[in-house]
Amino acid sequence: MPELPEVETIARGVDQRLRLDRIVDTWFSSHTQPFKTPRARQAKGLAGRIILGVHRTGKHIVFELGPVAPQNSAAAAQPDSHAQPEAHAKPEAQWIVHLGMTGRLLVTPPEEPVAPHTHARLSLSSGRELRFVDPRRFGRLEFRELQRTPAFDAPGDEPLTIAAAEFAALFRGRKLAIKAALLNQTLLAGVGNIYADESLFHAGIRPRRAAGRLTRAELERLRQALRNVLQQAIRLGGSSVSDYVDANGARGFFQLEHCVYLRTGQPCRSCGTPIRRILLAGRGTHFCPRCQR
Ligand SMILES: [Zn+2]
Repeated sequence: MPELPEVETIARGVDQRLRLDRIVDTWFSSHTQPFKTPRARQAKGLAGRIILGVHRTGKHIVFELGPVAPQNSAAAAQPDSHAQPEAHAKPEAQWIVHLGMTGRLLVTPPEEPVAPHTHARLSLSSGRELRFVDPRRFGRLEFRELQRTPAFDAPGDEPLTIAAAEFAALFRGRKLAIKAALLNQTLLAGVGNIYADESLFHAGIRPRRAAGRLTRAELERLRQALRNVLQQAIRLGGSSVSDYVDANGARGFFQLEHCVYLRTGQPCRSCGTPIRRILLAGRGTHFCPRCQR
């Protein structure tokens, strides 16, 4: 399941490739599952729009879309910011992609064979296609007209930019384990099992500690550890982004050199004590019983 760094990597890769390209036509599969907005409305809403930019919000990939091109110029438009006054236009609509467990976004030449489980194909004025492939169909595609619907906002605060005081306030008075609190998407957006375990290790905090009992200093260590592990993973992903978004990008997501995650029984990289695994909030949870207190 892609976590925040993978989603950030994919959003940046798609942005680099598709910024100021234009959607000229769309195709959607006949499944109903991945469509949060009905297919017909997505098709109608997307056609002709310029892609102003693509970014991550929480674990969602948000396409900011500009105005629909005048009928006769749609096919001729080229992604060239100088020639296109719309490049500086305000977003009028959004296309929101959630990858779920197995979703992928691919930028491909149109002649590339269509993979099984392809649910959306967007033809672009540059001649390429953007495809959404999702075997397990837990992903979601949503279209928003910003005149009618507010802009998309993921629940929870952004772990890369949250300030110390706001971070501490999230956990105040909470009795649940800090690991469970980190996974709660309404508190922090996009933190999954890997980065929760790794950041607790780097902060030296036991996963089972009650969130509300952590000291201000511990919470600050945790905030910085979380930001560091996420940024490190994003840097790592940046070098391999073409494995995810370019044609045939079928490779698995990048793996950090984990310190505790999935290292049960192996020696702690810091003190040599075997890493222990427990179940917490239904999730396998890995920690060093000596380094984490
Ligand atoms: Zn240790």
